[in-house]
Amino acid sequence: MEKEVLGLHHITAIAGNAKQNLDFYTRVMGLRLVKKTVNFDDPGTFHFYFGNESGTPGTILTFFPWEGIRKGYIGAGMATEIGYSVPKGSLEFWENRLGSQGTLKGTYLERFSEKHYVFQDPDGLHIHLVEPSGPDQRTPWVTDEVSQSAATRGFHSVTLAVHRLGPTEKILTGILGYVLEGKEGNISRYRSPWVENASIVDVMEAPNLPRGLNAAGTNHHIAFRVKDEETLMYFRSRIEEMGLGITPKIDRDYFFSVYFREPGGVLFELATENPGFTRDEPLESLGGQLKLPSQYEARREEIMRVLPQL
Ligand code: ZN
Repeated sequence: MEKEVLGLHHITAIAGNAKQNLDFYTRVMGLRLVKKTVNFDDPGTFHFYFGNESGTPGTILTFFPWEGIRKGYIGAGMATEIGYSVPKGSLEFWENRLGSQGTLKGTYLERFSEKHYVFQDPDGLHIHLVEPSGPDQRTPWVTDEVSQSAATRGFHSVTLAVHRLGPTEKILTGILGYVLEGKEGNISRYRSPWVENASIVDVMEAPNLPRGLNAAGTNHHIAFRVKDEETLMYFRSRIEEMGLGITPKIDRDYFFSVYFREPGGVLFELATENPGFTRDEPLESLGGQLKLPSQYEARREEIMRVLPQL
């Protein structure tokens, strides 16, 4: 069988204050906290995963909240925009809701004939709420304040900014199986043909855009979804054959990953569907407890003293 990349798996961004980040994504955006763990490389920092009920790949936005970190800025060599799919007719609800929660007034725009409401989260992260032209049958997580008629369905797209399109396009189409769908201004749209949703990568070619600064309010990396470890290792060798540096397979407890920097400077990850977030918590109580990777379990009390108050 042909090996496939199944659109986006997750996007990871950097936040400042942990409590503010948690409150914004769970209460204001109405996402589910599906896992509360720590940064595996820096266990004094939280790692939050927000998604739908089970944290299906393609719905997962994750954050490293680093208290007191400086504010970053977007630029070339990073993912600059996160697109969430929302139901038709819900953008005004979101404009009003975000406005009433103290978020700066956003703007409307149209891209590839789809309507977007664009705003920034409390750290300045750029979020696009998009009414997709095609169907989105994904079941959303709903809350008392964000109902079925408005709730985000998961990712619609991610936008990357690079100085030169060609080398990034070569990775997307030549390795990851994305197909060029169209161009609008300096944005090229690529779609993964194997999945219905979370299937779009928009690449903005901006030769004169300064490099971004990866700190609060910016994206750290984007992860593409693959079925299993065999597929992961298949793509790992394809990328290695292109002469790009790539990590060994890393166990992230909820998925297995490899990381590489695509030639435009954006950090890419490939992540497996298995084992998923129910590995160490039942579905109904996902996100309820602080989960630590086994190597830190013995230090739980010390870690809990260091972590910021939520
Ligand atoms: Zn990741």
